Amino acid sequence: MKLQIITLFPKMFDGPFAESMLLKAQNKGLISVELIDLRQFGLGPRKTVDDTPYGGGDGMVLRPEPIAAAIETAQQTNDKAKIILLTPSGQRLRQPLVRQLVAESGLILVCGRYEGVDERVASLVDVELSVGDYVLTGGEIPAMVVVDAVSRLIPGVLGGETSAEIESFADGETLEYPQYTKPASWRGLVVPEVLLSGHHGEVLKWRADQAAKRTRGRAGR
Ligand code: SAM
Repeated sequence: MKLQIITLFPKMFDGPFAESMLLKAQNKGLISVELIDLRQFGLGPRKTVDDTPYGGGDGMVLRPEPIAAAIETAQQTNDKAKIILLTPSGQRLRQPLVRQLVAESGLILVCGRYEGVDERVASLVDVELSVGDYVLTGGEIPAMVVVDAVSRLIPGVLGGETSAEIESFADGETLEYPQYTKPASWRGLVVPEVLLSGHHGEVLKWRADQAAKRTRGRAGR
């Protein structure tokens, strides 16, 4: 999958994409990540990308022309890509949507900054996505969230291929059961007896019960 990220701060991605699963996924050729510096598409000698909001108010808004030029450049090498704008007012990212995105051949992710992007940018994108009901300083961390969530579902990225199928939200809502490892007793807290019993059927039943209990508990939060 070809992932292109349009951002004013490409260096922010150095760390997350240079470690662990995302690095391995790139090395194996399962994903490719291209960072597109929005500043390159800025207007005039100062490469301006933003301006004051019409109607007044604080802060600066990203202009549509540099974003359009950046998207069009990205599309030249990723013409079937789904174009995503990261915005707090977008559709909330949930696991069923992540699963849909995995089927795409490419994604172009547009990161806003400052007070956000000119509303007309919405006419250029396929989907507006929010990572939650809170406001971050920019779309870079949300873009990292999307890339991470999508990449780990690409076959071959995770070590244990089945682990994504039985974990939290695999069906859209059910949480995973509690996990334990050694030692069996730690600071007076003991691992549930059933997990040490060796009875596979009992373990499966316990896990299903615990997952249901956790999911019910979360519903009230
Ligand atoms: N003024 C905007 C508002 O009140 O909705 C917030 C702009 S925010 C400071 C700047 C940029 O960060 C946004 O354009 C968006 O790209 C990104 N952003 C912030 N919070 C986000 C969230 N929860 N989900 C996705 N993107 C977010």
